[in-house]
Amino acid sequence: MTSETLTRHDQHGLYPEPRTVEDFCSNLATVQARIAAACQRVGRDPASVRLLPVSKTKPQASLSLAYAAGCRWLGENKVQEAFGKWESMQDLTDLHWSVIGHLQTNKAKLVARFASEFQALDSLRLAEALDRHLQAQGRSLDVFVQVNTSGEANKYGLNPEVVPAFIRQLSVFSALRVRGLMTLALFSAEAERVRQCFILLRQLRDQLQQCAPVGMELDALSMGMSGDFEIAIEEGATVVRVGQAIFGARALPDSHYWPTRFDPEAPR
Ligand SMILES: *Cc1c(COP(=O)(O)O)cnc(C)c1O
Repeated sequence: MTSETLTRHDQHGLYPEPRTVEDFCSNLATVQARIAAACQRVGRDPASVRLLPVSKTKPQASLSLAYAAGCRWLGENKVQEAFGKWESMQDLTDLHWSVIGHLQTNKAKLVARFASEFQALDSLRLAEALDRHLQAQGRSLDVFVQVNTSGEANKYGLNPEVVPAFIRQLSVFSALRVRGLMTLALFSAEAERVRQCFILLRQLRDQLQQCAPVGMELDALSMGMSGDFEIAIEEGATVVRVGQAIFGARALPDSHYWPTRFDPEAPR
């Protein structure tokens, strides 16, 4: 039955721009209803799925409306943009920031300053830099290891085979709290191929839980976005990262943000 769930990538570009707090409340309610329906299909408790609203590219006015509608976490994929938004909204002390995009080591210091969560950890150099800057500031950070589950050579994230050894090496970084794994599925209308990416991430997590370093829980699975989060939930997602279905379509095409992901021809 669940294998009939389709992707909704065709809706991208159609999500209308929310302009009021009520619009945000209604978009959030729609997404929560989709989450609940997916949970029901596989007998999961909707409370076991955390919705991370993704506000990248949207202006601060839009983020403020989302906050007024109840959002207390926002996901951003570019650190400079995220830092700027954090600076201008710092007075909202209960608003937390999750950086979900690839990070260059030289920007680790910035993330250490304001982020509560980082979902794209994919190198030891980066882990070391984050840990060092966090220690210096007396902060800590929840992290997810990004895994390349689609096998696309041009996509960020570690190959699944190297993840167990990588995770073992993270236990020395005491300012990093390793929560679990994150992935971006294949961007495809072929739901079964998308589903395979999510299954792979769940199986890897299950395998890691057998051999995780003491004190590391590794239960989180961050997978699924506006076009495919129902499938991700059916396969065990505990965090879904949803942008356009909450904040409206992005003005620029996805290839602008993920040149390597959506458009292999784009210059890098
Ligand atoms: C933008 C983004 C999302 C959300 O995508 P939508 O299509 O807007 O839901 C999820 N994960 C990552 C890493 C992103 O950069």
